[in-house]
Amino acid sequence: MNTDRPHTLTCFPRRKSRSIAVGPVQIGNNAQISIQSMTNTLTADIDATSAQIAELAEVGCDIVRLAIPNRESADALRSLCSASQVPLIADIHFDYKLALASIENGVAGLRINPGNIGSKERTKAVIQAAKERDIPIRIGVNAGSLPKKIMKKHRGATAEGMVEAALEQIRIVEECHYDKMKISLKASDIYRTVSAYRELAKKVDYPFHIGISEAGSYFSGTVKSSIGLGILLAEGIGDTLRVSLTGDPKEEVRVGLEMLKALGLRKGGVTTISCPTCGRCQVELVKMVETVERETAKLKKNITVAVMGCVVNGPGEAREAQLGIAGGDGEGLLFKDGEVIKKLPEDQLLNALIDEIKQYPQ
Ligand code: SF4
Repeated sequence: MNTDRPHTLTCFPRRKSRSIAVGPVQIGNNAQISIQSMTNTLTADIDATSAQIAELAEVGCDIVRLAIPNRESADALRSLCSASQVPLIADIHFDYKLALASIENGVAGLRINPGNIGSKERTKAVIQAAKERDIPIRIGVNAGSLPKKIMKKHRGATAEGMVEAALEQIRIVEECHYDKMKISLKASDIYRTVSAYRELAKKVDYPFHIGISEAGSYFSGTVKSSIGLGILLAEGIGDTLRVSLTGDPKEEVRVGLEMLKALGLRKGGVTTISCPTCGRCQVELVKMVETVERETAKLKKNITVAVMGCVVNGPGEAREAQLGIAGGDGEGLLFKDGEVIKKLPEDQLLNALIDEIKQYPQ
C-alpha cells in the first residue's frame, strides 16, 4: 500500500500493474478501471443470454462473464461471442473440458478457480490452450473454497491463506511460461478481502479484479461493496471490478460506475446531485430526481446537474453545477452555468431541465 498519497481524492496513485487485454478492453498499467458483470440467464438459452449481454453493454458494462456449468452452455458461446458487443469471459468450475471448449468457442477470457478445476495437469492443459489463443486467465481465489491444506495451516480461511492459495496458482500459470492473468481474492467480508488484496499487492504485479463476493441484496450489497471496493480503489488497488448484487445485473454495473465516478476514476455521463429534502421542500423532489437520472442515464455528457428542493441551499448547489433546479412553492428556478435562466411553474420545471440537459454542449 502506498502511504504517501496526496490528500485529494482525484489523483491518488494507482498500484503499478502489468497490462493484459480481454478482447479490446485493456486491464492494468493505468488503463481505465473496467466494469464487469455476470449474466443470470441460462447460458444455453442463447436468445435470453444475448439479450441480457446487450442490456449490460447498454448500461456501461465493459466485460460480461457467463457461467458455463455444462456442455450446452459451452456450445452456446460460439453464437454468444459472435453476437456480443463486449468481450465475454467463461466462468468455469470443476470441469476443465468446459474450459477447453469455451476457449475453442471464442471467449475473450477465462475465470477458473484452480482449487476446484482438478489436477495440476488439467489446469496446465487449460493454461496451454489459453496461451495458444492469447486469452487471459483470471485466477479466482475464493475464501469459501481454499484448499484443505491451506485451511489447516492457517486455521481457517484467512486473508493469509487466500494469498498463499493465489501464489500457488500463480506459480502454476507461470510454470507454463504464461503471464496473462489477473487475480481476484474474494471473501464475503470486507476486512479479509481488503487485507488479502493489500498483502498480495506487495508480492505480485498482476492486475487485480476486485469485488466482495456474495455481497447481498441491492441495498446491503451496495453498501458493502462501496465500502470494500472504495477502500481498495482509494488505495490505488484494483484494475477491473465487479459489484456482486443479488438481483438484476444491470444494477451491478450502475453501482460500479457510480462508485468509480464518486472517486473521480471515471468521467463521462451526467452526475446528479440532489438534496435529501426536508420540511422546506414543496416540490415532488424524489420523483424529479428519479426522472432526471432515468432520462439522462445514457447520455455521455460529462456534466453535473443539481436537483434541489428549495431556495435555502438550492440556488448555491444549482449554481455550482452546469445545470440545476431549485424548487419553491408551486414554482422553481432553472439554473444554467451559475445563472438563473428561468422561473417556471412546478409542472414545467422538470421538462425544462431535461431539455436543457439534452441541449447542453459536450
Ligand atoms: Fe431542505 Fe431546501 Fe436543503 Fe433540500 S435544499 S434539504 S429542501 S433546505
